[in-house]
Amino acid sequence: MTVELICVGTELLLGNIVNTNAAYLAEKCAGLGLSCYYQTVVGDNAERLGEVLRTAAGRSDVVILSGGLGPTEDDLTKETAAGIMGRELVEDPGSRAHIQAYFASRNAEPTENNWKQALMPRGGIVLPNPNGTAPGVIIAEGATHVVLLPGPPHELKPMFENHVIPYLKNLEPGVISSQTVKVCGVGESRVETMLQDLIDGQDNPTLATYARPGEVHIRVTARAEGEKEARRLIKPVVKEIKARMGGDIYTTDEEVTLEKAVVELLVANKLTVTCAESCTGGMLSARLINVPGVSEVYKSGYVTYSNKAKRKLLGVKKSTLEKYGAVSPQTAEEMAKGLASVSKGDVAVGVTGLAGPDGGTEKKPVGLVYIACNVKGEVTVREYHFSGNRQTIREATVSAALTLMRNCILEYFSEITFGKKK
Ligand code: ATP
Ligand code: MG
Repeated sequence: MTVELICVGTELLLGNIVNTNAAYLAEKCAGLGLSCYYQTVVGDNAERLGEVLRTAAGRSDVVILSGGLGPTEDDLTKETAAGIMGRELVEDPGSRAHIQAYFASRNAEPTENNWKQALMPRGGIVLPNPNGTAPGVIIAEGATHVVLLPGPPHELKPMFENHVIPYLKNLEPGVISSQTVKVCGVGESRVETMLQDLIDGQDNPTLATYARPGEVHIRVTARAEGEKEARRLIKPVVKEIKARMGGDIYTTDEEVTLEKAVVELLVANKLTVTCAESCTGGMLSARLINVPGVSEVYKSGYVTYSNKAKRKLLGVKKSTLEKYGAVSPQTAEEMAKGLASVSKGDVAVGVTGLAGPDGGTEKKPVGLVYIACNVKGEVTVREYHFSGNRQTIREATVSAALTLMRNCILEYFSEITFGKKK
């Protein structure tokens, strides 16, 4: 089955808001095994929206629209879709009651145009909206299914999860199930090369790679009569990926992030952690502290941005800074060593680099980063070359630091191999 997305809103066309709904919906649909070949953004204009919707409904099985379900003049998605699908708008008593209750619970009076939101295309399946006043609706005509969702993401997402996913799952017999294998420290092109024959030869399950900063996620998706059968199809493929990617895989659990995997590793090995950051300015600590339960292992973090701070707080030698510079393997190493002694952390990480945009030289270009990881006195220093702007370089640095921490800890406790840990 094919799906197509239409995001409605002049704000989107002008670039005033980022189209996160498209990213969210596309990823969810891919997870459901639907093929998405087209996405369109169109302004709040009935004629152009009508044209786009007619085209979409003519070539895709499912058309999902987001936005324009609100009460105001420029919200015209429902009216336009109903017109094209040949449905008149009739009042839905349930939606009217919901709007009434919604305003009553907020001690407010609905305005006349709010009642417009209780009008639904005849024969449509109304999707309740507990987080707003505009209900969604599904209009099915033959083999074409048109889904209208409200624009605000906090309204769209729960509606999609709770009502649209079950509806879409019902359209095709069987279930779609997927599992994600997450890899760190290896680029997407390399992952693709290593899995090329699996990707090329895929049918059921299918295999797709998604690049994330410093990571690649490999999603294996199977269609089968039941969940158990789908799992049975997925299992050998995941096993094969594990055999090829080995220790670069940090989890096969959708919910586990790289920072969570690192924190779990620290907790499992009873290791405390501390960070000294220059170019990342606390982002590494922030990502670690994102993980609930990190208090068991996280001790302290320093932002040692200036040379003076590196010397005073971490004991980096003046001569080292003068001879090799702040962005050097020697400085990174002394940061990680000094940090371990001042903070008494088992794992001490030092990060120094050039995030740009200025300050690069031929010898030390923007994007040059050194990360040192000290696990109980065993120090590993790595050099990295990242590209992009200041923000992306800093994000890539944090992911690299997490990957290095993971690898160093695993190496230190080499008896704890991947597989045994799971
Ligand atoms: P409302 O009742 O709030 O008017 P609506 O269904 O009419 O909802 P829009 O008016 O199109 O939706 O958009 C309302 C808000 O929702 C936007 O200002 C924006 O913040 C958010 N939004 C809309 N479309 C998107 C999108 N594609 N991606 C992310 N956010 C969006
Ligand atoms: Mg609106």
